[in-house]
Amino acid sequence: MVDLPAGVLAAAVLGVFGLLVGSFLNVVIHRLPKMLERQWAAECAQLQGTEPTTAGVDTYNLVVPRSACPHCGHRITWYENIPVFSYLALRGKCSECKAPISARYPMVELVTGGLFAWIGWQWGIGPSALTWCGFAAAVLALACIDWDTTLLPDDITLPLVWAGLVAAGLHFTPVGLADALWGAVAGYLSLWTIYWVFKLLTGKEGMGYGDFKLFAAFGAWFGWQGLVPIILMASVIGAIVGIGIKLVGQLREGNYVPFGPFLALGGLTAMIFGPTAILKVVGL
Ligand SMILES: [Zn+2]
Repeated sequence: MVDLPAGVLAAAVLGVFGLLVGSFLNVVIHRLPKMLERQWAAECAQLQGTEPTTAGVDTYNLVVPRSACPHCGHRITWYENIPVFSYLALRGKCSECKAPISARYPMVELVTGGLFAWIGWQWGIGPSALTWCGFAAAVLALACIDWDTTLLPDDITLPLVWAGLVAAGLHFTPVGLADALWGAVAGYLSLWTIYWVFKLLTGKEGMGYGDFKLFAAFGAWFGWQGLVPIILMASVIGAIVGIGIKLVGQLREGNYVPFGPFLALGGLTAMIFGPTAILKVVGL
């Protein structure tokens, strides 16, 4: 029998784990914005002293109700919910009404599996690897939610800032606690400053407060030293995608493309290659 290198085993185990986590991320990406909308509607109604419009509506969270086909309401069984494989077995269609299932579901599962496998290969299986798995899952969910809704929910960005600081304090990330702390501060303040300068000069909003919080999180996870490489990477990816969208002529509603997904991709690239390698890629 051939002894497999430890990295291969860790990559395989975390890769499978990633497929399952990706399946859960699909639920988060789909439901969290709707949960927040309900919450805001309820809070507005409370302030105005009226009955919330969601009163009497069924419970809706990450667990309840069970997943169903949005077209025909067919309950998705466990064997129709196996990451990637079920999508392939069903040929991308609901088993009941044959409505197409978005290819993004298996894509999110595959990307999560791939990222987790890479993490296993790099860090083996241990506290550091699991910490980075949490990072990758949160950032991927944020990228998709922002793309769909132009929102980066505080429920993910703020815990990500704290988690980065705690991970640095526990030495789960290779960043000193002081560098992580100043990274979080510099991350937030740098984009906040750019936002206000841009707004005062042009009257437009180039990004949102969620972007500041996500960048603060990256500062906590990679230290202040990682911020410039990540923003460069995000800008390069954003420019390429922006030009691509223009060429294809598929401008989004209101011509607005959120910055968060590119920022998130910059953060994931920093996780994969290390922030300093990015500088070499962009020629600095
Ligand atoms: Zn259906």
